[in-house]
Amino acid sequence: METRCAHLGGRPDGNGPFVPPIVQSTVFNLGSAAEAEAIFSGEREGYAYTRFGNPTVEKLAEAVSSLEGGAGALVTSSGNAATLCAVTIAMAGRSNKLVTHPDVYGGSHELLSILSETYRLPVEVVDPADEAAWLNAVRQAGAVLLETPSNPLMRLIDLRTTIEAAHGNGAAVIVDNTVATPYNQQPFSFGADWVVQSTTKYLNGHSDVVGGCLVKRDELTAQDRRVHKNLGGTVNAMEAWMVLRGMRTFALRMKAHNRNGAAVAEWLSGHPDVTKVHYSARSEGRQGDIYEQQMTGGSGFIAFELAGGGEAAERFLDRMQLITHAVSLGGMESLATRPAMSSHRGMTTQARKKAGIADGLIRLSVGTEAVEDLTEDLRQALGR
Ligand code: PLP
Repeated sequence: METRCAHLGGRPDGNGPFVPPIVQSTVFNLGSAAEAEAIFSGEREGYAYTRFGNPTVEKLAEAVSSLEGGAGALVTSSGNAATLCAVTIAMAGRSNKLVTHPDVYGGSHELLSILSETYRLPVEVVDPADEAAWLNAVRQAGAVLLETPSNPLMRLIDLRTTIEAAHGNGAAVIVDNTVATPYNQQPFSFGADWVVQSTTKYLNGHSDVVGGCLVKRDELTAQDRRVHKNLGGTVNAMEAWMVLRGMRTFALRMKAHNRNGAAVAEWLSGHPDVTKVHYSARSEGRQGDIYEQQMTGGSGFIAFELAGGGEAAERFLDRMQLITHAVSLGGMESLATRPAMSSHRGMTTQARKKAGIADGLIRLSVGTEAVEDLTEDLRQALGR
């Protein structure tokens, strides 16, 4: 993966530039009437309008597809736009329910609620902790949308059994691989049909572009491309180029995120004020078996609970000096938030408690800083 990342963008033809150019144009010369006809009919590959396709955006699609091990990809303006596109394609012509789980990313959950309220998309939310109930729902699903590890409690879902169960009914499985990343988890090797990515996070890695991508295990069809271009959440060349540039260092950054994530989780688990550490690479029991089966690293995404509850969590956020109080994840800089106050503030205290979101829970996106600097900031912010 290190080698592939270093060469992302492709080998130049002849005297061409090594780094792909930014083709910042919405329109392309169609040539003669006969040439235009060949492009529009699909008889010949070519560009007409950037929402339909653009050479720089194509380079990004090829790059994400190659890291995920897919056959083709469609680039979108955000991770949510990628989920919308994948769900729309996977549920076409299906009357059974779209099965998902309660701790799928909050924005995905909201998106499914809107689709359900407005277009009557049938959605069923099942907790994978009850594996029998989960697999039963998946066996009858029209399509499945899942995220493993989940955010913020890093719960893992068994990809192999879930995908087998869904395929028994001909249902497509969409895996949100944003937190694990293709560095640590390859959903296509377990048979997933689609992988969605918020490229905003680890793939770009610089916290300066919002973007997404949906990758398909099999060749993209004309219908997949039709849905993508007409839903409209496509991108311009400049943004695609920025993500592609960020991805050149993806493997190096992930090595550092995995190392720092593991070291910080270990350090936190030894702190007397920390009652629980959630980190996929430290999963135990059945969850530990799932980790071994499908993941090779835990990324830099951690959540931990403070004995002092909400007050201790607020004090911790106020005292941080190196770590920034901010949402999102996957950048080189470490970020922390309190889910009860940010991503899960819309829920009642009781509903949060049921979902396992303690008042004293802190979500930490561990960056690529020197680990001693991170533990020093954690030590002073925790007040010991
Ligand atoms: N999937 C996961 C796991 C996320 O954490 C996020 C955003 O935080 C998204 C999808 C949505 O991505 P975006 O914000 O790029 O739309």
